[in-house]
Amino acid sequence: TAQFNITSLRQQFPALDQHCNGQPLVYLDSAATTQKPKVVIETIQQYYSGHNANVHRGSHTLTASATAQFEQARATVQQFIHAADSKEIIWTRGATEALNLIAQTYARNTLQAGDEILVSEIEHHANIVPWQIVAEQTGAKVVKIPMLPDCTLDMAAFSQRLSNKTKIVAIAHVTNVTGTRNPVEEMIEAAHKVGAVTVIDGAQAVAHEQVDVQALDADFYVFSGHKIFAPAGIGVLYGKKALLEAMPPWHGGGKMVEKVSFDGTTFSALPGKFEAGTPNVAGSLAFAAAINWFQSIDREGAEHHIQALRQQALEGIRDIDDLRIVGLQPEASLFSFVVDGVHHQDIATLLDQQGIALRAGHHCAHPMMDALGLKGTLRVSLAMYNTAQDVERFIAALHKACSLL
Ligand code: PMP
Repeated sequence: TAQFNITSLRQQFPALDQHCNGQPLVYLDSAATTQKPKVVIETIQQYYSGHNANVHRGSHTLTASATAQFEQARATVQQFIHAADSKEIIWTRGATEALNLIAQTYARNTLQAGDEILVSEIEHHANIVPWQIVAEQTGAKVVKIPMLPDCTLDMAAFSQRLSNKTKIVAIAHVTNVTGTRNPVEEMIEAAHKVGAVTVIDGAQAVAHEQVDVQALDADFYVFSGHKIFAPAGIGVLYGKKALLEAMPPWHGGGKMVEKVSFDGTTFSALPGKFEAGTPNVAGSLAFAAAINWFQSIDREGAEHHIQALRQQALEGIRDIDDLRIVGLQPEASLFSFVVDGVHHQDIATLLDQQGIALRAGHHCAHPMMDALGLKGTLRVSLAMYNTAQDVERFIAALHKACSLL
């Protein structure tokens, strides 16, 4: 891997080189979605310019080549998260779809009335609502793992609420509002002791730490391509093979079947069983290109760079009256804050006018906002392509905004 070099790295992201409201763009919303390096954009262009064909169908050269690339991309994802077998990698539209798939296949067919699904209070709605839907369908109950005032999980409550009624434990690896890194290793081990299956939402983790699903012993692990330099519309469900094999299919259609007749239908082996219809081939190839690119970066250097920027930002805004950092977490790539007495959206608007893009709102985490007693926060989320100058511009813009409000 090459040494971390911010200048050459930044040049690989065309979207960063633009003006927004007459000012050079400062993009501080990478936890919502990252910008894309040229190699990812070019992969999509090249696929549609020269390689486009449907996969796993027909017998011509183009389709064979597209299929080979599509399966190679799956193997790239497998290696990236250290899964044992590429059949354990199911393409989805994103983390959200992967969580719904687990809920509507695994959970819907195993849960019974009275069973419990443990879900943390600091989850994204994508890791809450699918469980509520399947609870409604099966008579199971969603049980909350509450957070502590510092925005970490109440592990005593977790231990207490974990019982032999618990069938599923669904938690984020890293959360999106404060960047809390949940102790997933410990939680997975505890869940397995009571026979529960674990679902880990890795959407915010994969771009910032090395994930090894086998070392974690996660039963399911999900993430989205677009938060790790790949395009939107492609994501991954990892599941242990024995679980995936036992699960019924979800969507019906082409490719997920072995034989269809009006007397009954038999289903394809993994991974095809969960991939009905024509898949997002270009997305899969671009996802693999993003992973290959990401793995060519000095990731440790990149994380140091991000931490230095975060420190710079926190120090630069410390003197603003009534500013509060919400649940500051060590080593996170993001932080949330509020300015008491000022609406977060008003600040976001004034920042936007100065070319600063960040997220303001509830961050799809209503339960966490309720626990915090807040309607929303402002969130600064950093990626390796941000610069000290970006952070300086943010600090100055925030001072200006707060002096006007
Ligand atoms: N979980 C977390 C922690 C997230 O941050 C997000 C995206 N904001 C999701 C799940 C959902 O991801 P997607 O919208 O890409 O499906």
